[in-house]
Amino acid sequence: MIIPMAYREIVQQLKKKYKTNDPFDLCEALNIPVFREPLGKLRGYYHYYKRNKMIHINMNLSEEMQRIVCAHELGHALCHPKQNTCFLRENTLFSSDRFEKEANQFAAELLLPDDLLEKYPSYTIEQIAATEHTTVELIQLKFNFSIF
Ligand SMILES: [Zn+2]
Repeated sequence: MIIPMAYREIVQQLKKKYKTNDPFDLCEALNIPVFREPLGKLRGYYHYYKRNKMIHINMNLSEEMQRIVCAHELGHALCHPKQNTCFLRENTLFSSDRFEKEANQFAAELLLPDDLLEKYPSYTIEQIAATEHTTVELIQLKFNFSIF
């Protein structure tokens, strides 16, 4: 059985239309405001209110992590826009929740190039993650190494 992967099609369309995979640039192009604020232990969250989409990102995270969080929240905004994401769930990149998983898959698809593994044939996933300033979890999601 083939499971439809909406997030993959959405990412392909975005890259084609806006010629970028930068989540901040895409939010701007899509008129989704991004608020960087101190959020304590939260990485960020997506908020939908009266047809407005908003993304909040913890400004105390590293630039690389803010990019990943922005891509994740953009995934919420585009894959299931009317679903507010629970603040507490955002503490972990992994979740069994369907919406969280979809947002993470979206982020992995958007941020990581398809030929990433071919670029580093002798590297471990940990080494690739460190070199590319990304996370092991995203690489696992992108290339379906995940056991989740
Ligand atoms: Zn989320």
